[in-house]
Amino acid sequence: MSICQKECIMEMLTSKKSHPQDTVIHIGEKKDLSIGNGSLTIMAGPCAIESREQLLATAYAVKAAGAQVLRGGAFKPRTSPYTFSGLGEEGLSYLVEAGRAVGLPVISEIMDAADLMLFEDIDIIQVGAKNMQNFSLLTALGRNNKPVLLKRGAGNTIDELLYSAEYILKEGNPNVILCERGIRTFEPSSRFTFDINAIPLLKQKTHLPVIADPSHATGISSLVTPVGLAAIAAGCDGLLIEVHNDPASALCDSAQALSPNAFSQLVSGARDYEKIRCIHR
Ligand code: PEP
Ligand code: MN
Repeated sequence: MSICQKECIMEMLTSKKSHPQDTVIHIGEKKDLSIGNGSLTIMAGPCAIESREQLLATAYAVKAAGAQVLRGGAFKPRTSPYTFSGLGEEGLSYLVEAGRAVGLPVISEIMDAADLMLFEDIDIIQVGAKNMQNFSLLTALGRNNKPVLLKRGAGNTIDELLYSAEYILKEGNPNVILCERGIRTFEPSSRFTFDINAIPLLKQKTHLPVIADPSHATGISSLVTPVGLAAIAAGCDGLLIEVHNDPASALCDSAQALSPNAFSQLVSGARDYEKIRCIHR
């Protein structure tokens, strides 16, 4: 049998056929946060860690509003090389400190497998949209047991996202969370177009948890809550939201950052939608 024929009949590790029960990922030192168990997990924080003070202020605000995971980018994949690209290792140390201060597990993006050892105290490693098909990075993360949040590339199909997740599972790491963060379409009025179809489609095709990122999908702060709520109605396992203590001064993705107050309103709406969704299940 040729390799191609073998590939065609092989059941993907990401598929529901090979793993009928939904994967539930346990996060944090005490493993007391479960992602993918039917409840909604809310992750929030700034696009980029800009300083210790900015991160701590935002961390206390998102925790008070009900976030369950603190996000913050230390290695930023910027389109222009002349824009703020993050504090690197120093930023990760602020994130670990802020997570401990407010009692939340933390998530941050990795761009290079050579940085893996810097992520030891990070609870979830994010692979950004621009690295979805960085296969050597995916393979390295598969050889590590840390939970990975894998974002869909702006120009990638749902099946390509699943193949990328397969690279991680195939190496032995079952802890993969998928993330829909918008795709590029002909519509220029928003940064990207949130692919709402992707949520129920992924939930039907795979046992892996599916998170929605309406911040990058829209790029416009006033659209983040309505699109986030739509993703909950469509069945996502959680939200990833950019929040800044002072959105107007954000060094990265300022237009899509929610204020702590707007985030708090999003969380209360999200919890209402979660309850309604439970009734209709
Ligand atoms: C981010 O989460 O800050 C980010 C860079 O997102 P994406 O990879 O979806 O563009
Ligand atoms: Mn961002």
